[in-house]
Amino acid sequence: MGQLSAVVVGGGIGGLAVARGLIRAGWGVQVLEQAPELRPLGAGITLAPNAVRALDALGLGGALHDRAMAQGAAGIRVRRAMDHAHPP
Ligand SMILES: Cc1cc2nc3c(=O)[nH]c(=O)nc-3n(C[C@H](O)[C@H](O)[C@H](O)COP(=O)(O)OP(=O)(O)OC[C@H]3O[C@@H](n4cnc5c(N)ncnc54)[C@H](O)[C@@H]3O)c2cc1C
Repeated sequence: MGQLSAVVVGGGIGGLAVARGLIRAGWGVQVLEQAPELRPLGAGITLAPNAVRALDALGLGGALHDRAMAQGAAGIRVRRAMDHAHPP
């Protein structure tokens, strides 16, 4: 049987992750992206632990860890929820 092949429509993180995974599994992949070029937007992003694990599984953990920095403790505080938790 010949090589399996796939066409992935969209070169965002979702499409590129799928393409990467398929290529690692031996598929031939063509990514179709409507944007004329992919360029940095000059912004940082926060990656949740499950996203980091996914990149590790795709063999991209080393490149990620070379460029990323760990974020310290963070949280979302909602005033109403806190008032409820600690009534006057
Ligand atoms: C301001 C902002 C900040 C964010 N910050 C974070 C963050 O810190 N951490 C985080 O985890 N997430 C963040 N997100 C969310 C994250 O960007 C999205 O969840 C993620 O980019 C979605 O990826 P995607 O591949 O599904 O879609 P997209 O990134 O939207 O990619 C879809 C791609 O498909 C292409 N496309 C669409 N239709 C076609 C077509 N018909 N033919 C060819 N190509 C097509 C588009 O051009 C695009 O490149 C942020 C989003 C925004 C807007």
